[in-house]
Amino acid sequence: MMQIRVLYDQAPCLKNRLTTNLTKMYAENNTKKRGCIEVVCGSMFSGKTEELIRRLRRAQFANQVIAIFKPSVDNRYSDVEVVSHDSHSITSKPIKDAAEMLKVGPEVQVVGIDEAQFFGENLAAVCQALANRGVRVIAAGLDTDYLGKPFGPIPALMAIAEDVQKVHAICVKCGGLANHSHRLSKSRKLVVLGEKDIYEPLCRECFNKALAEE
Ligand SMILES: [Zn+2]
Repeated sequence: MMQIRVLYDQAPCLKNRLTTNLTKMYAENNTKKRGCIEVVCGSMFSGKTEELIRRLRRAQFANQVIAIFKPSVDNRYSDVEVVSHDSHSITSKPIKDAAEMLKVGPEVQVVGIDEAQFFGENLAAVCQALANRGVRVIAAGLDTDYLGKPFGPIPALMAIAEDVQKVHAICVKCGGLANHSHRLSKSRKLVVLGEKDIYEPLCRECFNKALAEE
């Protein structure tokens, strides 16, 4: 405790940062019908879906009415479940267009969205409309594509969100924090679904090196 106080005295901004990070972790919006947008984003294998599921489970424990959606393009594991890489899952509804989320009933308090990057450009407007109605919207998705470019509707969604949490994977080359999804296959298509056989998480340095070598 002494040590921490000394640290605070030396760097007052550190105290704020530590406090903010701790409260951010536990003080999620759990009041009734207060609309907001939360984004959880990062590279492949960064735990985005696990974090989405964690937040949704907490809401479920509080008996809040939740609805979960994912784009129907993503059917790697299951048509009706949001499944994370560690096989935790939660039932979701696959939809083609983000606008279908606007059909949720007035009883719905929390809307979860997985693989949000695969939705169209209307995603931000749809989430905005839901939040304005009083819905807590939690969207998880890739922030950048396989070339390191901002992914689809995610940048716009991050801009209007109350809260953005960046999660990181571990770089498979150097063990640093990874924020890029490097594609091992040579396909130039933007959407190539796959797992460890197709993508690897890399840090900035290793990602740039890998791209330069291709
Ligand atoms: Zn690295």
